[in-house]
Amino acid sequence: MISFWERESLLHADVVIVGAGITGLSVAASLKEKQPNHRILVLERSVLPYGASTRNAGFACFGSLTEIVSDIDHMGEEAARELLFQRWMGLQITRKRLSDKAIGYEDAGGFELVTESSRSAIERVASVNQLVDDFLPEYITNTSARKTDMGILADGSLYSMAQEGQVHSGDLMAALESYVTSLGVIVRTGAEVLHVASDRVEVRDSHRGTFDVRTGKVVVCTNAFARALIDVDVEPGRGQVFITKPIEGLKFKGNLHVDEGFYYLRNVGDRLLFGGARNHFFEQERTHDFEVTDEVQQHLASELKRIFGPDLAWEVDQRWSGIMAFGKEKLPIVQHTDDGLLVALKMSGMGIALAGFIGEEVADMIN
Ligand SMILES: Cc1cc2nc3c(=O)[nH]c(=O)nc-3n(C[C@H](O)[C@H](O)[C@H](O)COP(=O)(O)OP(=O)(O)OC[C@H]3O[C@@H](n4cnc5c(N)ncnc54)[C@H](O)[C@@H]3O)c2cc1C
Repeated sequence: MISFWERESLLHADVVIVGAGITGLSVAASLKEKQPNHRILVLERSVLPYGASTRNAGFACFGSLTEIVSDIDHMGEEAARELLFQRWMGLQITRKRLSDKAIGYEDAGGFELVTESSRSAIERVASVNQLVDDFLPEYITNTSARKTDMGILADGSLYSMAQEGQVHSGDLMAALESYVTSLGVIVRTGAEVLHVASDRVEVRDSHRGTFDVRTGKVVVCTNAFARALIDVDVEPGRGQVFITKPIEGLKFKGNLHVDEGFYYLRNVGDRLLFGGARNHFFEQERTHDFEVTDEVQQHLASELKRIFGPDLAWEVDQRWSGIMAFGKEKLPIVQHTDDGLLVALKMSGMGIALAGFIGEEVADMIN
């Protein structure tokens, strides 16, 4: 039950943002930077964001060779270039806003292991580089000579994306929340939104039950969970990962993309974080269920042995999963709906870099 005082002072806003992942908080940051007097309220169902933003691999990346080639073939050059540009620009915004130190940003470099079956992509390196040359100069280069130094034993050529980096995803989200609250954005957790309309949202909390929050505008940033609130082309894709205990003498540093990014591997200090394999378990991973499964985890373990060989000794420290959002089209959905809402979602597997750009785009649509 709601009190008079709560209804008068606490349950209204100029803009309500649903979802406190990296997209929701980036939208809040851009809005508040442009309109400091607006009352911005972010509603998050869980104590901590419970989707992808605090559960990912922390690649600050724009796209690897085979992924870009596949995007060009499916979306055309212009859309593929636009997506790369949005990721690149988004990362610049987030780094500038929060500082590299606060988000644990490292210029670690990204690599892709390209196998013989993707030879046709290798033939397109020059044209891909030309496509993005004005913002990512000399983006992709052959660095196969470094394979042995990095301890990679699996077959394939090694291509590097030098401008790619890493973040500490926990630090990034903590810094982003501190930043938006320092600007005066109100973030309420434990607030599940049950229904959205153009001028109000219905919220449930475990103590008060359900009540309305009045607002001038609603922005839905619930990514893979959006279909519970609106009719939109989004479906969930679970990503399972594990992180090893520290590995003595680990040579590998940076990010490694394998198989069009379906596998992702990075160092976290002297540990390895490894995840993916959705392409082998598509149906089972099309879920909102935050579980890890033996099949996927065993598959990942054998893939890691294939990459570094049986002599690298490692032990899993922790396993978890997060839920991404995908759709028929790869570009994110940032639009007004017929019901007068704004939606910003479907960040696929690259929301870290994209979110800063999406925040600016949404803020421009509101102002
Ligand atoms: C295992 C894994 C690895 C990844 N690796 C990378 C990577 O290396 N680099 C990269 O760029 N991207 C990566 N991603 C993708 C990236 O994490 C996402 O693109 C990004 O986090 C999406 O952010 P978001 O804010 O749009 O969505 P989310 O982070 O999912 O946020 C949505 C929020 O909405 C909340 N919510 C949902 N429904 C409601 C409701 N009804 N009411 C209130 N709140 C609600 C959820 O609790 C959640 O906090 C990875 C994802 C996973 C799962």
